[in-house]
Amino acid sequence: MILDKMIELISYLLPVYKTKCTHDKVPPEVETAYCPDCGKLIKNEWYIGRCSSCGVKVKVMVRNGEIISQNHFCTNCGGNDFKIEKLDKINFIDINFAALLKREVVETSVCKTTTCWQEKIHEQPKLLIQY
Ligand SMILES: [Zn+2]
Ligand SMILES: [Zn+2]
Repeated sequence: MILDKMIELISYLLPVYKTKCTHDKVPPEVETAYCPDCGKLIKNEWYIGRCSSCGVKVKVMVRNGEIISQNHFCTNCGGNDFKIEKLDKINFIDINFAALLKREVVETSVCKTTTCWQEKIHEQPKLLIQY
């Protein structure tokens, strides 16, 4: 908790941290959406944690883009080893345990446009040789 406050303070003092968008306005119920703040395509990924020893679900959270367990020890067996599972779809039971990671999607449509241009460039010299 103290660390969170410190990050908050640093991001307030250093404008460079402010520019990193957290995509807060992307609704969690959609699979993918464009962030209204930065325009990037965002994919919502849900993760849950499980105790490696007894398999009980544990609450997880996102910190610095990583999924970590909220507790250090399992409330069921006292184990401290957890595994993270990615969910295909979130449901009402898992939402209490799950953490949402808003991942930036590298758009492939931009690459396709580039390929089209390259193809056109390749064709032109061929025509010139024929003349
Ligand atoms: Zn954003
Ligand atoms: Zn356990």
